[in-house]
Amino acid sequence: MSAWDVIVAGAGASGLFFAARAARRGLAVLVLDHGSAPARKVRVSGGGRCNFTNLDMGPERYLCANPHFTRSALARFTPWDAVAWLGDHGLGYEEKAPGQLFCAQGAAAVVRALEADCAAAGVRLDLGVPVRAVQREGDGFSVATGRGVLGARAVAVATGGLSWPGVGASGLGFEVAAALGLRVVPPRPALVPLVCGHWPYADLAGVALPVRAACAGAAFAGDLLFTHKGLSGPVILQISSFWRRAEALTIDLLPGRDAAALLAAARAARGRGRTLVRNFLAAHLPARLAARLPGALADTPLADLAAPQLRALAQALNAWTVLPTRSEGWARAEVTAGGVDTAGLCSRTMTARHVPGLYFLGEVQDVTGQLGGYNLHWAWASAHAAALAAG
Ligand SMILES: Cc1cc2nc3c(=O)[nH]c(=O)nc-3n(C[C@H](O)[C@H](O)[C@H](O)COP(=O)(O)OP(=O)(O)OC[C@H]3O[C@@H](n4cnc5c(N)ncnc54)[C@H](O)[C@@H]3O)c2cc1C
Repeated sequence: MSAWDVIVAGAGASGLFFAARAARRGLAVLVLDHGSAPARKVRVSGGGRCNFTNLDMGPERYLCANPHFTRSALARFTPWDAVAWLGDHGLGYEEKAPGQLFCAQGAAAVVRALEADCAAAGVRLDLGVPVRAVQREGDGFSVATGRGVLGARAVAVATGGLSWPGVGASGLGFEVAAALGLRVVPPRPALVPLVCGHWPYADLAGVALPVRAACAGAAFAGDLLFTHKGLSGPVILQISSFWRRAEALTIDLLPGRDAAALLAAARAARGRGRTLVRNFLAAHLPARLAARLPGALADTPLADLAAPQLRALAQALNAWTVLPTRSEGWARAEVTAGGVDTAGLCSRTMTARHVPGLYFLGEVQDVTGQLGGYNLHWAWASAHAAALAAG
């Protein structure tokens, strides 16, 4: 029955990276993917430029029920290892934001590197073949596929999460985990824009500004973008991974600046007390937001503001409260939070503790990276750790 040493479910970032390394160790490896092309998510990553790693790497960059789970694999595959791997394929990198490394030749070149590694190592890659179920059979596994039942000594589940269904996402990994007795932390969209049911700022769509956003004990600084339905931009994507329904976001529109002190200084300055609220705000915020934020107070001179109005305005600037009603969902989520509970996995090998030979790699795990190259890095690092253990 065990025709293959390893069957890999999913020819994405982690599946291909693992397959090539396992095959180099002498294993007979078959990779199955239901899509018509491999690594379609890598192809669209980073807007087609593939933010493949981040130099500011560490377990604290990952959301996971066990905050230490990533430590071992990250220590054994560093951002410089990722750089070296691309270098082996003649590919370079660009640091577009501090620490954030993109492939200089674009995402398609990264996909070609994954394919080249697999071809050189003798991996068999079968596309257009869905994996439907994985069962324990003797010392190995039987894998139900679109081409019948196949046998393997080991199985690596690398089917990713539920986000971006257009490029092959499926819940197969969670189903396999549950069927073989592993707990699955309920998946939810992450790194996703947020929607506000009643949204009086639709007219501000397109306005962007640097802010600090906080929610559920987490806080991020970065750019916020107003949309027709709510809020987006890097800082909102970051905080969305922590946000839960019915929780409010607190947004500091003047990060690092004390709005009450700025208002007091403006009122005290000679002649400035007659400055209208909107004009005062326009010195600190994008003009369209400055005109809308203070509502009925927009055309009031600073000097005429009563103490409660001053306090409310300062609060709106340093601690603006927004209550999103939902996220934009799987279609717009860059990743899936939740997934296969890492309590059931060995952090050195990525194998299920109670199912020898069953690996879970990449995003299918309850490991969610922050924005900035962390999710692809986890795909590489978890695959590398598993490949060291395979064989
Ligand atoms: C638009 C977008 C941009 C992104 N940009 C970045 C970025 O710049 N940097 C970064 O770090 N992260 C980025 N990410 C996230 C990153 O792409 C993923 O976290 C990463 O690809 C996960 O790797 P994986 O191997 O776990 O899964 P994937 O790469 O998603 O691969 C899973 C594979 O499994 C296959 N599959 C699923 N179900 C089945 C089944 N039943 N049978 C057979 N095959 C199946 C799929 O077709 C797919 O090929 C981005 C994500 C999106 C959606």
